[in-house]
Amino acid sequence: MSEDIQKLKEENERLTKINSVKSEIVSIGAHQIRTSLAALKWIIKMFLDGDLGKLNTEQETLLRKAYDGNERAIGLVSEILLINKSEQVVEKEYVFEEINLVDIIEGTIFDFSGESTARGIEIIFLKPSTNGIPHVKADKEKIRVVFQNLIENAIKYSNYHGKIFISIKLNDDDFVQVSVKDSGIGISEDSKRQIFEKFYRTEKAQKKEAMGSGIGLYTTKKIVENHGGKVWFDSIEGHGTTFLFTVPVWEK
Ligand code: ADP
Repeated sequence: MSEDIQKLKEENERLTKINSVKSEIVSIGAHQIRTSLAALKWIIKMFLDGDLGKLNTEQETLLRKAYDGNERAIGLVSEILLINKSEQVVEKEYVFEEINLVDIIEGTIFDFSGESTARGIEIIFLKPSTNGIPHVKADKEKIRVVFQNLIENAIKYSNYHGKIFISIKLNDDDFVQVSVKDSGIGISEDSKRQIFEKFYRTEKAQKKEAMGSGIGLYTTKKIVENHGGKVWFDSIEGHGTTFLFTVPVWEK
């Protein structure tokens, strides 16, 4: 190995280490801030609920403002934690093993059942009737993040009473293909190019869902590509979106 390549390798290792220490500091700091904000939330709530005596109108108005501001701060810190976690997940070493994607899909749908029911949304898994879907070569933790991001988005950007269809098939002999289809707000032609960019959110999405970081699809793309697969989408604004991705079949 030439001296230059060795130097680059060492520099890369040094930067990776610095980045990991940074992530840890952000994580510890953000958790501490969120714990303090959560404590503050319950104290203000006790006042607002009248547990500590009746408030006059002025006191109540001010405390309501404090409560709302505190809620926004909790939301922001939660977003910081999410971004930080996503970066850690993508960068962490990949451990590939033989995985049954059907189990992961079912588990993730179960995890989101409370959220989807609360929004009146039905998630339908078009599970293959035969045992025809081969196992794939994947990192379990990371591929679960891909499903979480796609299903969470399908729920967030669907309208009340929307339906989400998830299907899985063998694409060719080498890849299993999964699709997550919603009938939600869709993505405009102008936005399509940028959809996988880090921190990108469409205006429509921001109006529908104030909370969001624009990190989910960026993370999804990185993870799928690190598996040797592809991710893409079809969408018609106002009618819905289908995200699709492939994962390589497990070779015995
Ligand atoms: P977030 O959902 O936190 O904004 P993502 O990276 O997951 O971030 O998604 C980026 C953007 O892509 C979203 O803000 C939204 O504009 C668009 N998007 C993603 N999934 C969908 C979907 N199922 N339907 C419509 N728009 C979507």
